[in-house]
Amino acid sequence: MPLWNDYHLPLSVDEAVGLLARYDGKARVVAGGTDLILDLRQGHAPPVEALIDVTRIIGLNEIREAADFIVIGAGVTHSQIVESQLLQQKATALVEASYVVGGPQVRNVATLGGNVAHALPAADGTTALNALDAEVEVASFSGRRWIPFTSLFLGPGKSAIDSTREILTALRFKATGENEASAFSRIMRPQGVALPIMNFAAKVRVLDQQIEKVALAVAPVAPTPFRCQQTEAFLTGKPANFESIDGAVAVLLSECKPRTSPHRATGAYRQEVLPVLLRRTLGKAIERVKTGEVMPEIYKVE
Ligand SMILES: Cc1cc2nc3c(=O)[nH]c(=O)nc-3n(C[C@H](O)[C@H](O)[C@H](O)COP(=O)(O)OP(=O)(O)OC[C@H]3O[C@@H](n4cnc5c(N)ncnc54)[C@H](O)[C@@H]3O)c2cc1C
Repeated sequence: MPLWNDYHLPLSVDEAVGLLARYDGKARVVAGGTDLILDLRQGHAPPVEALIDVTRIIGLNEIREAADFIVIGAGVTHSQIVESQLLQQKATALVEASYVVGGPQVRNVATLGGNVAHALPAADGTTALNALDAEVEVASFSGRRWIPFTSLFLGPGKSAIDSTREILTALRFKATGENEASAFSRIMRPQGVALPIMNFAAKVRVLDQQIEKVALAVAPVAPTPFRCQQTEAFLTGKPANFESIDGAVAVLLSECKPRTSPHRATGAYRQEVLPVLLRRTLGKAIERVKTGEVMPEIYKVE
């Protein structure tokens, strides 16, 4: 039995949602296909009558500024993100996350929308977007709506977006402004190709040498993307230095309980890694605010 019969390349969102409606749940959205085609081949996703490829939709492969938001079309690839000077300056964590996704061949076709729609809590783009307080635009036959990023995730691999009827069209978040910066780090097996042992993203605002606001996202520590709210609260108002970061480790360890994964790492190992990632990532973000140097040279262009 073929994994799909028809393959459509719509040029507009209206055309794409019209096609999904016409197939009435028997078609599915595809973007880069780096997750979906494997899932179809390995039997993790059921065969469909049609694949609706959203990568040719006009506007879906654009990165733009709208007021103080950055809007990223769901069809934007990880390579586009890495190369975007706007994102290097104003969403550094996302650039660093996209930079480590797969290898160049994967990054050239894999999209940010696919990374999010696949709903794996430890996907690298997902962790960065979580710290950036992103929102997601979803289009269906009945119209478009913006929803908070976290409401999209129902469990590992379970998205609130029904990719047989709806399309994730764009992601948006506030650009990092004055006195703000973000950073992303991950720990990965050398031979690892897909998900990390752990990843971590931070966004911080520093005023008068103090942490005025901080967002910390880490994965995988829960079935859905996780924000370290207790650690964020602990750090708010503290001096922006490594003493404060080290002081927050106990809070971080009490609210994050990573589990053992047979393929990646034990829960105990991940507990050991958590303070390292906090120090590395938040330390890097604070340093960026202090120096004004938001983007390390290595990440500018591959
Ligand atoms: C070798 C290899 C290495 C990888 N390494 C990493 C890694 O280091 N880090 C990481 O996070 N991921 C990694 N991945 C996973 C994958 O590449 C990313 O998650 C990628 O961003 C998925 O995007 P895609 O466009 O290929 O999605 P697709 O495979 O096209 O789609 C994924 C899912 O999302 C749905 N979908 C896609 N776009 C939309 C949309 N616009 N609207 C609604 N539904 C949609 C599809 O129906 C499908 O269910 C790797 C994959 C491979 C094969």
